[in-house]
Amino acid sequence: CKTSEIKEILYKVLVVGNFGVGKTSVIRRYTSGIFSPHYKLTIGVDFALKTLIWDEHTKINMQLWDIAGHERFGHMTRVYYKYAIAAIIVFDLTRLVCVMCGIHRCCLWGLSILIILILFFPLFYFRQPTFDAVQKWLDDVRQKVVLENDEPVPVLLLANKCDLDNTTAQVDQSKLDQYCEDHNLIGWFPTSAKDNTNIEEAMSFLIEKIMQIS
Ligand code: GDP
Ligand code: MG
Repeated sequence: CKTSEIKEILYKVLVVGNFGVGKTSVIRRYTSGIFSPHYKLTIGVDFALKTLIWDEHTKINMQLWDIAGHERFGHMTRVYYKYAIAAIIVFDLTRLVCVMCGIHRCCLWGLSILIILILFFPLFYFRQPTFDAVQKWLDDVRQKVVLENDEPVPVLLLANKCDLDNTTAQVDQSKLDQYCEDHNLIGWFPTSAKDNTNIEEAMSFLIEKIMQIS
């Protein structure tokens, strides 16, 4: 009798995004099923492995690379990106909403809000970067990694912390859809590492895309 062969595949997937958006939490939730609210800075490059029996012929080892403490530079070295087959960009949905609210109010109340914006500029300034950072991380990924056939790697966007303040309802989902379309991202998911929302779904979606190209 002939034993059926199982093909084992290793996928290196990068997880990038600004400091504090929840990269480590998303990775831990996916690979170990746990969430810790205690903030701990990850130092150095961190890997986590998730093994999946995809079907009766395929075993997938997802190696998730956590940029871990290098976020402050806003980019990574080419060595880090080498052999990656896909990337995940994580941003913090709550910070995006904060900025959008700021803009809307500015339109509504004009000058008085402008004064408030000037007074609270440091607050807005420091809360704003995560979505702008998506573009920065995307540029970094696009510049430093391509597939063997010179095609761009699939990039997935995760709008994390969707458990907070009913943020998903407030965010302009069509804008994110448009952003993904304009920038050739495979898609986006609102996620919560805390509540385990869409983590499995997002990862399965990514794996399916990877399998289509590999
Ligand atoms: P990293 O710097 O991008 O790796 O972010 P961490 O994973 O260390 O998370 C930063 C902080 O956000 C921690 O205090 C986490 O507990 C918190 N956090 C991460 N993901 C979520 C989430 O989905 N929901 C909520 N409410 N907090 C989260
Ligand atoms: Mg981290």
